[in-house]
Amino acid sequence: MAVPLLDVAAQNLALEAELQDAFARVLHSGRYILGDEVASFETETAARCGAAHGIGTSSGTDALLLALMSLGIGPGDEVLCPSFTFFATAGSIARTGATPVFVDSHADTFNLNAEDADAKVTPQTKAIIPVHLFGQAADMTAIGQLAKAHSLHLIEDAAQAQGATWEGIPVGGMGDFGAFSFYPTKNLGALGDAGLLTTSNDALAERARLLRGHGAKPKYHHEAIGGNFRLDELQAALLRVKQTQLDEWIALRTGNAAQYQSLLAGTPDLILPAAAPGHSWNQFTVRLPNRERRDALAAHLRAGEIGNEIYYPEALHEQPCFAHLPSANCPVAEQLTAQVLSLPVYPEMTETQIAEVAHSVSAFCA
Ligand SMILES: *Cc1c(COP(=O)(O)O)cnc(C)c1O
Repeated sequence: MAVPLLDVAAQNLALEAELQDAFARVLHSGRYILGDEVASFETETAARCGAAHGIGTSSGTDALLLALMSLGIGPGDEVLCPSFTFFATAGSIARTGATPVFVDSHADTFNLNAEDADAKVTPQTKAIIPVHLFGQAADMTAIGQLAKAHSLHLIEDAAQAQGATWEGIPVGGMGDFGAFSFYPTKNLGALGDAGLLTTSNDALAERARLLRGHGAKPKYHHEAIGGNFRLDELQAALLRVKQTQLDEWIALRTGNAAQYQSLLAGTPDLILPAAAPGHSWNQFTVRLPNRERRDALAAHLRAGEIGNEIYYPEALHEQPCFAHLPSANCPVAEQLTAQVLSLPVYPEMTETQIAEVAHSVSAFCA
């Protein structure tokens, strides 16, 4: 039985009638940019995270960039971020003219190591961007203390973790800004690109709204240089339909992860992900002892038509586009790039499909 890595069409087609209604509503409104759908989606998402403001953006990447621009981050500044993450986290920092300073991760949670971050703070450090990788919150207690101790701005990259919590607190509401992505593969996926910033700081919210629309206030009078970082009215309307299912989808992901944990417990040479409370399971990522075994398992699964992916095969401090930066010491990030493999965990999976994946993995490891 073939099992895809995920099936976004199945998820959307289950809501076909409601999505068609939302499309018709926007079509007939004649308002396609920054209308009521965006405003409502912003309010609803902010409320979910316990934040005062939501600012819809064109993507998760633009949410991160807009957060950094709103904080005035630029040339000469350093911003701490994990090396083991999706490129956008560091790419956004570099695009402001600031320097990404790469921090190592914890092998068991895949998330930023606050002690290593502390050791890499300099007088130029202005901000830190922890990533809630694979749907699991980073250690916001330690990172919050670090940010406070060094007066750093704190931006949560919550792109992969919509619906996750840290000690009961929703991600996206704990820093100066929270950045979300609604790329179709995320926990809450649009039918295209979309993102959102959350903040509880009134002045920062105002600044982000200004910069989202070319810094114009009033229209055609530009106080600052921003960009076009707007969320489409259509995507907001579709996301408002889909968000009603988010809790259910996360519960299904959590159930799937639990099933893997029990089916794969004790498998030789296989390290299962830490199953902390509040995890939203955007990915179920296992580890093998080394690159050779990991690549062999990936090939074995592919041969059986079982979807899998390596998130991420190269750490960011090793990327050619950052070769001009001072070399960063992130041994765990390098180790993880050789060990990790993500298995299908999407909400629509059947029990039989999970059993099939688990069987294929254990047959290989045995
Ligand atoms: C997906 C993702 C982003 C970027 O989101 P886009 O909507 O694709 O621009 C940023 N950071 C992380 C960790 C992501 O996984």
